[in-house]
This record gives sequence, C-alpha cells and structure tokens, in this order.
Amino acid sequence: VIPGGRITVADLPLRDNLRGKSAYGAPQLKVPVVLNTNENPHPPSAALIDDVAESARAAAAELHRYPDRDAVALRTDLAAYLTKATGVALSVENLWAANGSNEILQQLLQAFAGPGRAALGFVPSYSMHPIISDGTDTTWLHAVRASDFSLDVDYAVAEVSNRCPDVVFVTSPNNPTGGSIGLDDLRRIVEAAPGIVIVDEAYGEFSERPSAVELIDEFPAKVVVSRTMSKAFAFAGGRLGYLAAAPAIVEALLLVRLPYHLSVLTQAAARAALRHSDETLAGVAAIIAERKRVVAELAAMGFSVVDSDANFVLFGRFRDAPASWQRYLDDGVLIRDVGIPRHLRVTIGLTAENDAFLDVSRKLASTDL
Ligand code: PMP
Repeated sequence: VIPGGRITVADLPLRDNLRGKSAYGAPQLKVPVVLNTNENPHPPSAALIDDVAESARAAAAELHRYPDRDAVALRTDLAAYLTKATGVALSVENLWAANGSNEILQQLLQAFAGPGRAALGFVPSYSMHPIISDGTDTTWLHAVRASDFSLDVDYAVAEVSNRCPDVVFVTSPNNPTGGSIGLDDLRRIVEAAPGIVIVDEAYGEFSERPSAVELIDEFPAKVVVSRTMSKAFAFAGGRLGYLAAAPAIVEALLLVRLPYHLSVLTQAAARAALRHSDETLAGVAAIIAERKRVVAELAAMGFSVVDSDANFVLFGRFRDAPASWQRYLDDGVLIRDVGIPRHLRVTIGLTAENDAFLDVSRKLASTDL
C-alpha cells in the first residue's frame, strides 16, 4: 500500500473553484509518430547542441550562486530577436521571461486578475487559459468563436464591452483552430477592453500577419504580447516563454514572480538557442510548406480543413472524432482530440511523419466521415 493512499482529492480542503476540475492532460505516449502537442519536429542542430552544452558547462561553474533574478542578458537577447522579427524597436525593459509562456500567463493573471476579478476568452482556444484562471482564482468568462472558428469582431467587441473582464485573452494564431486576427480587428477589441488584453502569440512565427507588438506603444496600459520558444524555436524542452509589453507591466510582474524562477541553466541554454535563431527559424518555412501540402491532401480526400496560420491543422468532419482518434493511434499516429465535436487536430511534422498521418487519413476518409 502507498502511504496516504487511502484518501482522495475529494477528502482534501481544496479551494471550491478547483473541485471537480481536470488537470491539463495531452497524452504523452510512446508511439512512432507523435503529432499531438504542436512541437517543432526538427531536432536541434549539432552546432546548437554543442553551444547549449558548452553554455551549460560554463553556467555549471556558477551553480552555487543564485541566477540573475531579472535575467537581464537573456531579456536583452530576446528584445534583439523580437525587434528583428517584428520591426518594432524593443528594449530589455519591454521584455520579461519565464519557464514557458504558461508561467508568463500565470504571472499575468496573478498580477492583473485573481480573486474578485475575471478573464474572458473566445473558445475553442488554448485550454490552459481557463485552467490558469482557475489556478489563480480568477473567474473565467466564456465567450465563443463563430461556427467557422473565426473571431466575429463585432460580437467580440460587444462581449468585452458588456462583460468588462479585467483580462481578455486573444490567441493569434488560435490554438486549436489555426486562424489568426489582423491588427485592425485586434485594435477594436483592445479599445473596448477595460483592462489588460493578452495576445497569445505562441505560434506567431508561423503567421503571415504582423505581431500585436505593434500595438504596445498605442495601448501601453493594455496590450501584452505573450510568446514562446517552444514552437518555432524548437525549444519546448528548454521551457522558455516571454512577453513584450510596456516597461510598467514588466515592473508589475516583479511583484508576483518567484525570485530566481529562471535557473542559471535555463538562461544559458535559452541564450545559446537564440544565438542559432537564424538556422532554427529557417525550418519554419519548411513546416509551412508541409502544412500546405497536408491541407491540400486532406481536402482532396474529402476532409474539411480549417484555415491555419500555424504549425497544426484542425480537420473533420468525423462521424465520431474520439473513435477516429483511437484509429489513428492504433496505426501508430498520435494526434489530438481537443473536444471539438467531429474534429481532430494534427501537428505538422517531418515529411515522413506527415506521410504516415496522411496514409491513415486516406484509409479513414472512406469509413469515418
Ligand atoms: N499558448 C498557446 C496558444 C499554446 O498552444 C501553448 C502550448 N501548447 C502555450 C501558450 C504554452 O506553451 P509553453 O508554456 O511551452 O510556452
């Protein structure tokens, strides 16, 4: 018997708003083709691996000391990268970093939401937005996307004006549906918002649309752009998310961050990965080309495919999406059932992985639609 194993969560004095909730749970299974968590399929280059290893070795000599609490060198590098990527001149004061953009989002809700406050999002969207709201005891306000999964901006503006959330989430490109929002539409939502608008650009590098970073100077007290090295940067295992915003917003986050949250090793490895950004990001074009191929092939098989500006595609319409998900898995291809009736989501992988996925799709197109 396991010590303490006789009690369950229901026996604990858990906060009321967490009772009966489910934890985030994308399956982590050992199967030949893993296309379920929107990772970058390209492994790090030998040069990047060497650079990370050397940097970690140098950092290891300092392991008896706490890391730079404010991660100034890393934030300076991130500012340089984002300035180059967006054309908006950002400085170290505009950047903040944490262990994945999930931690960035959590810190934002700790500072700007929490008990007695509300966050609004347009679902289906990233499932962690409501989970982080629950975790910070923020009231989650559920608004919806249109039936084609786009954001109806008139509706969005009305929801934001009427419900007055302290925080609005806009995910662009949106996970799990793939579409993105233009700056003019986003500007209308920001104008209507009474508080903070978090633009979650985890997939920003895959999109052809300009980044919401362009709106920071226009709305310094409102616009926060959340980004990550987990997707385009192929650094999901390194855990490094960041945001761009007005310096005052970064200052506010210092009130809630745990001191020394980014380890010496994380900071060193992320800086090494950033030094190789040109070569890593060259892979983004290959992923987009593969996405276009996968979309065209799925459509030719009779699937309906939602327009995607990211490294994944939502497609259907299955008669029974959970049953079809299992059939992909039985054939060694792990994709994602995000709970949208009749739809599944697939991450774009390497050519051979996409071929394996398309082979199963071809088979299911005649039986499962
Ligand atoms: N935002 C969105 C929209 C995502 O899809 C993800 C990852 N699935 C994240 C944030 C969080 O990623 P990470 O914590 O790895 O930066």
